[in-house]
Amino acid sequence: MSFTLHGLAVSNGIAIGQAHLLSQATLEVSHLVITPRMVEKEVARFETALARVRSEFEAMKVSMEKSPTDIRAFIDLHMMILSDPELSEVPKQIIRERRCNAEWAIVQQMEVLVAQFDKIDDAYLRERSYDVRQVVERVVRELTGRPGHAAVKVPKGVKGENLIVVAHDLSPADVMAFKDQHFASFVTDVGGATSHTAILARGMGIPAVLGLHNARQLIRDKETIIVDGTRGVLIVNPDPRIREEYELRKSQIEIERSKLKLLKTARATTLDRVKIELLANIEEPSDVAIALESGAEGVGLFRTEFIFLGRGDMPSEDEQFEAYRRAVKGMDGRPITIRTFDLGNDKRVHSSMTEDRKRDNPALGLRSIRLSLTEPKSFQAQLRAILRVSKLGKVKILIPMLSHGHQIDQTLAALEQAKSSLRGEKIAFDESIEIGGMIEVPAAALAVGLFLRRMNFISIGTNDLIQYTLAIDRSDEQVASLYDPLHPAVMMLLAHVISTAEKVNVPVSMCGEMAGDPNLTRLLLGMGLRQFSMFPAQIPAFKQRVKQSDISGITPIVRRILRLEESAKIQEQIDRLNI
Ligand code: PEP
Ligand code: MG
Repeated sequence: MSFTLHGLAVSNGIAIGQAHLLSQATLEVSHLVITPRMVEKEVARFETALARVRSEFEAMKVSMEKSPTDIRAFIDLHMMILSDPELSEVPKQIIRERRCNAEWAIVQQMEVLVAQFDKIDDAYLRERSYDVRQVVERVVRELTGRPGHAAVKVPKGVKGENLIVVAHDLSPADVMAFKDQHFASFVTDVGGATSHTAILARGMGIPAVLGLHNARQLIRDKETIIVDGTRGVLIVNPDPRIREEYELRKSQIEIERSKLKLLKTARATTLDRVKIELLANIEEPSDVAIALESGAEGVGLFRTEFIFLGRGDMPSEDEQFEAYRRAVKGMDGRPITIRTFDLGNDKRVHSSMTEDRKRDNPALGLRSIRLSLTEPKSFQAQLRAILRVSKLGKVKILIPMLSHGHQIDQTLAALEQAKSSLRGEKIAFDESIEIGGMIEVPAAALAVGLFLRRMNFISIGTNDLIQYTLAIDRSDEQVASLYDPLHPAVMMLLAHVISTAEKVNVPVSMCGEMAGDPNLTRLLLGMGLRQFSMFPAQIPAFKQRVKQSDISGITPIVRRILRLEESAKIQEQIDRLNI
């Protein structure tokens, strides 16, 4: 049966391949022996989880009222499986008899059922074992208190090129873990358009659609899927005509991309000869090659935390030195801006961080520089590692999420301490290394003078700036439609930051997602921005846009646009005047 699902378009392009459902990983649960006193509590916990999943299914049915009957039939089937005594009663016996935890009990029972299905001759019935797995996976997620979130482990030996990962949710650490498998694409039920997971998809240059709600429930392993990452559409089991159409579009996109690559060595200069600096955002040292390949003049943002996500402990100074050394060497004298760890929120290195620091509002919590300042030893290790590589190239330091003057003071003092310890050990570093602050909290944007007086440069992180200005969680697909870069409040903040920095002659760049969107290039040029940092894959199209732009013509129009009070009107003017 062919059907279409709609989600958030987060990374352009088209992929055609086989579904690779990430499921088994969630089912790797721990086996705990419980005390006799705990047995009935465990049974009750199991019953609560079943009840929750049942209501999730019911809600899903309501939300899918307009979907084809066949799709809704899936949900009915899953509800039936959930209510079957084999899954709803037998695990309770297992808990009581073997005195084990509920997750273990249901997974044990699932293994028995799946083994029985596997012996059936009838292919249709055999396939039902997928359904059993999917239902059990939901219950396990409820039990583990992480609805929807799966710790992904990609099976050994899986080769990615023709596979499309289908998951309920993927954390940035999950994506980093399978980055080198070269999957054709990934799609998830949850996640916002500027979540770090989406950012990684764009960085990898693969199409992705997030926020699909029920994809993980409706798609079967190995089904053929078309992912249209530009429109946010997923076509499952496409008929041959549709598939042909998409094959054609896919090859057109490839031709277009290779044409743009010819611009690699062209200068990014506007029609009125204003030179624009084009830098790359990277996540790991090996990305440097792609950055240079796409014509980046330097690295404007090296998100260092991505190298060490999910590995279990904080990296040592020497490990960091080695990673940064590879990136700096790879840039061969071109500038590279290394950002200190932006950990916390959705990016975690060790599990204690997940447990100890889990809060209701992690984006507003101990994240980023706030976290670094509370862990002076780790912060020193990172600053020393960055300083040590500063002798090997043109290195700058970037500090994320600063908002208070005293944080700037503390950060500068920490840098001074790292410098003096290296001096004491007679280790060379660049004494005049530049340090910059990210402007990604509205307070920092409004009080940008704080930064301009004390730092060598600033870089605007629009992803967080928009999240905090509009009070919407960037990784929550339920509020994704409110994420609006053209909101007048965002425009005002950007214009204020750029013009204030310009007045006092402090370099300002932008490294958030807005920087790489060619539809916003002229607006930003008109505001006075001259330095942009983006994913390597975005650089060619951006360069083409710059080369077709005339700043002297754009600037007065942008000034008028900035007076508008509604984003719809701003968008309309951008379209009408081809800004
Ligand atoms: C930003 O917030 O815009 C940014 C560049 O940082 P990150 O996306 O890593 O939070
Ligand atoms: Mg940020």
